[in-house]
Amino acid sequence: MNDDLFRLVYYSRNHIRGDADTFDAHVGDILARSRTNNTRDGITGALLFNRGCFAQVLEGPLATVEAAFERIQQDERHGDVSLLALDPIAARSFPNWAMGFVGASDVDAGRFAGVGASSGFDPSRLSGDEIHTLLRDLTIEEEAA
Ligand code: FAD
Repeated sequence: MNDDLFRLVYYSRNHIRGDADTFDAHVGDILARSRTNNTRDGITGALLFNRGCFAQVLEGPLATVEAAFERIQQDERHGDVSLLALDPIAARSFPNWAMGFVGASDVDAGRFAGVGASSGFDPSRLSGDEIHTLLRDLTIEEEAA
């Protein structure tokens, strides 16, 4: 198997309905499943939720990253899944995260608003690079906290 590293970036729209507790329970399920599967599959990355959208970076061997993305696209908890980037990389940006979760706090929301403002808060107008940089910066801050 070719173990060269690839980075995949996508965004999607949240389809989870209900109150904050319902949303938190679903995201808890997604993160628990992601961390188990991604550890098994050699995938690292981070997931951002904000303003009704998810954005995610997956890094790892091409075969397992593509297989995870196939499963993710079929998940009814979100929709309008749009691939922004799939590129070879020299090194991981999230080596310590089987799947970090950022963006839910007020501070993160402010940071996302800054990036979002450049796109009119339309994530489809953000590039894969912008989302990757935002997620990397937020996870570095989480690690330092
Ligand atoms: P199981 O956990 O056994 O699930 C079986 C099936 O049921 C799957 O098709 C699953 O999609 C579906 N399912 C389970 N619970 C629910 C529910 N509450 N509502 C609707 N369908 C449900 N998976 C990863 O492996 N890595 C990731 O990084 C990752 N990131 C994700 C990010 C987002 C925003 C979302 C919405 C999902 C993500 N997932 C991720 C989950 C992914 O979509 C699959 O659900 C999961 O990979 C399936 O794992 P499994 O094969 O072990 O099946």
